Amino acid sequence: MSDTYANLVNNGVGKEVANKLGLPRPAQLRRYEKGQDLVDGPVAVGGLGTAPVAATARTVLSGAGATVVEATAESSYDGRLGAVVFDASAARTLDELEGLRAVLAPAVKSLGKSARVIVIGTPPDQVEGAEGAATQQALEGITRSIGKELRAGATANLLWVDTDAQSDAGSLAAPLEFFASSRSAYVSGQPLRVRKASDDQASDWRAPFVGEVVVVTGAARGIGAEIAKVFARGGAKVIAVDIPAAGDALAKVANTIGGVALQLDITAADAGERIAKAVAQHADKLDVIVHNAGITRDKLFVNTDADRWGSVVNVNLQSQFRINKVLLDPATKGGLRDGGRIVSVASTSGIGGNRGQANYAASKAGVIGLVRSLSAELADRHITVNAVAPGFIETDMTKKIPFATREVGRRLNSVLQGGQPVDVGEAIAFFAEPGSSGVTGQVLRVCGQSQIGA
Ligand code: NAD
Repeated sequence: MSDTYANLVNNGVGKEVANKLGLPRPAQLRRYEKGQDLVDGPVAVGGLGTAPVAATARTVLSGAGATVVEATAESSYDGRLGAVVFDASAARTLDELEGLRAVLAPAVKSLGKSARVIVIGTPPDQVEGAEGAATQQALEGITRSIGKELRAGATANLLWVDTDAQSDAGSLAAPLEFFASSRSAYVSGQPLRVRKASDDQASDWRAPFVGEVVVVTGAARGIGAEIAKVFARGGAKVIAVDIPAAGDALAKVANTIGGVALQLDITAADAGERIAKAVAQHADKLDVIVHNAGITRDKLFVNTDADRWGSVVNVNLQSQFRINKVLLDPATKGGLRDGGRIVSVASTSGIGGNRGQANYAASKAGVIGLVRSLSAELADRHITVNAVAPGFIETDMTKKIPFATREVGRRLNSVLQGGQPVDVGEAIAFFAEPGSSGVTGQVLRVCGQSQIGA
């Protein structure tokens, strides 16, 4: 999908005019390409006190091929940094935050294009005493603010790492690699909790799904088609699901990625059984289900009739309950394996609400509730359940938005542009990686730190 404004102000005369008038120029974001290095430049790593995560991060990042340098208050950097990782997990007093400022500020000044700031903390609920909790909570304010100040496609995110996972490379590798890499191009200002991984399956971030079977609903176009492609790129056999009316487009997607097309309305009473049957033709059990299919039927709440209400809630939320029930039954051939992954697509509308979208926001907030509850329920089976909450993504769905509203949606975020469907695919694939077993019950916004839905 084209962003005419971004094209105009980044080329030829338009670029000169934009510079003269001081108009914002959305940066071209670094996105994954085959063979690309994890990070574009050296990674500076520093921390406060014992900094247990910094030590783990050095091992993980150098193991992934990055050049790691020390971040201290005295450091001076040759050239531009690809990322800075700062471990504040040991901080328990507000005074210690000055140490963070002193180290992080010069490193942030030295960041290159599409660079990454990763702040590490301990979840405030694991810290004793109000000052300790306040200090850890402060990291969220710091990270979100840095995210809003960064330019040239750089992002800042926060990992709150459980104390028992802080020295565990198996728990930290996948989240660190995701946030350091170009796969998180449209994720900024977000906190994510990392628990102790339930197994230490290391995954190669370039091909984490070899031998896996993955179901993606709503895969004929838009975000779903890109999710399917990201999984196929990572080595998965993808079963792409969409309604029969989208059959031609669905077949095209499936053919491109060597996957399987399953024409199915996910609201059908037997949708779960039909998905399991399709899986059983390729494997005994399913590794990942991605609930992506969704619809909008926008109207002001007072004008929303029962049909608009019911259809949106049914497609976007109730269908997930019905399908999960079948796939989670251990007796189902082709059902989800223990240690498998459920990833749902929510929306920033489900977090902040949106005018004209009470039905849609209900369904998407409901997805967040589902994920939080089901993740706890399935922890014993080591099945993780997470959601992504996209903001403004350039698809047919957002093409329907009237021009002025659409332009506002595109620009009111820290990277001054809409996201691409692939950005949502990358975040979903991160949740689904074998190495992400310590990440569950989380909702990650893929919104360029949008101020809408905040
Ligand atoms: P889209 O309309 O381009 O694609 C949705 C796909 O889902 C279509 O191929 C459609 O045929 C399929 N689908 C709809 N109902 C179905 C059903 N009953 N059974 C099977 N398939 C069905 O939308 P998109 O923009 O790609 O959105 C994908 C997901 O992302 C949705 O859940 C949407 O709510 C969510 N989302 C999108 C944005 C955005 O900016 N585009 C933002 C936040 C969330």
